[in-house]
Amino acid sequence: MTAKPIVSIALLDSYDDAAAVRAAVKTALEPLGGMAAFVKPGQRVLLKPNLVAPAKPELAVTTHPAILKAVIEEVQEAKAGSVSFGDGPGVGTATSVSRLAGLVQVAEETHAKLVDFIATKTYENNDNRILKHLDLTDQLAENDVLITLPKLKTHSQMAFTCALKNQYGLIPGMAKAQFHFRFQNRDRLADLVVDINRTAAPALAIVDAVIGMEGPGPNSGTPRKIGIVIAGADLAAVDTVASAIINLPPEDIPILMAARRADFGATRLEDIDVRGGTVEQLKIPDFELIKAPANIMRILPLPKAALKWLRAQIVPRPFIIKGKCVKCLRCQNGCPIKPPAITPLAPAGKELNSKTCIRCYCCHEFCPAKAIVLKKSLLDRIFHIQALCRGIHRFLGWLVTIIPVNKFIAK
Ligand code: SF4
Ligand code: SF4
Repeated sequence: MTAKPIVSIALLDSYDDAAAVRAAVKTALEPLGGMAAFVKPGQRVLLKPNLVAPAKPELAVTTHPAILKAVIEEVQEAKAGSVSFGDGPGVGTATSVSRLAGLVQVAEETHAKLVDFIATKTYENNDNRILKHLDLTDQLAENDVLITLPKLKTHSQMAFTCALKNQYGLIPGMAKAQFHFRFQNRDRLADLVVDINRTAAPALAIVDAVIGMEGPGPNSGTPRKIGIVIAGADLAAVDTVASAIINLPPEDIPILMAARRADFGATRLEDIDVRGGTVEQLKIPDFELIKAPANIMRILPLPKAALKWLRAQIVPRPFIIKGKCVKCLRCQNGCPIKPPAITPLAPAGKELNSKTCIRCYCCHEFCPAKAIVLKKSLLDRIFHIQALCRGIHRFLGWLVTIIPVNKFIAK
């Protein structure tokens, strides 16, 4: 019989006392064998805090600097060759977000390197369900060990964000928006998050759940004291325990259900060895959860038809080059839509059903003859919409660095 994955909990009242924070991180790691079980001397370690958006630490949007600092010190004590941390926020860069979130100071104090996830590299994993090739930050290839440092928060689209969801930030900046357009169905997006985790393979999660976020997270909710640090090497198990503590069943969390479908970690409490406290002792029955998860695209104040049009402009569609097609039907058979959205034997111009195609590009991946290309819309070719979006993203990032956003956000 295989041993149950351990999820370890340490109590921590506040971020105020650095020694207490460090002790809590150490205590949480103890049942897992300490940091030395994950970091060998000389290894290059990448830490992934949640830097989703620029906000002061007390707003509980980002991983708290005290937790990051304590983890960096643990990694350095394990004699890592180097320590860096970064993210690919939706607005701005890790550096611009870190300025407001108090993490630049941590980099200065600990000599850890702060990196912006901008450049990508294509990573392959044949066990993935949605995308066998993923373009994620090149920092994964630059480092030996990935440790994720999520913040426990509610999430308006995915109900909850913690250990597994934190790896969505490995997709740099605007590319994330494109994935949202491609995977508007929450379950598909959840499957993608599991694929990202399988590909990036974080060795360990250390959750900042001292002050979490309830209500309309992940950016606009209310800070709520939970008073714990959670650690574990099985990220699905960590999320299962964390969500149980805020009284949210795994069945209501699309990413945990995707993990269960993919047999990716433990998603049932009875299959997890919880140390340092019990879920029942720590449970917060009145934690304010997301009532009706939002479709991220519906958040944009545009009519449905305009959103559909926008999606068609931003997301390229598969196109079969008839002359190259060897009629193997792998694209048709591998298409997750029923009936398949791609039928290579159909007359020219009718091979793709644009209405049902979800732009997952499985067909593009499966084609052995390179007969499927991804075609931009006419408008995108003329006006370079994607380049424009990237430009806007960079501009917003720059804006964040020059405007004293603290004043607005702190209110
Ligand atoms: S046609 Fe291709 S991109 Fe569209 S849903 Fe099917 S496999 Fe995915
Ligand atoms: S996978 Fe490629 S070669 Fe095979 S039928 Fe589809 S387009 Fe043609």
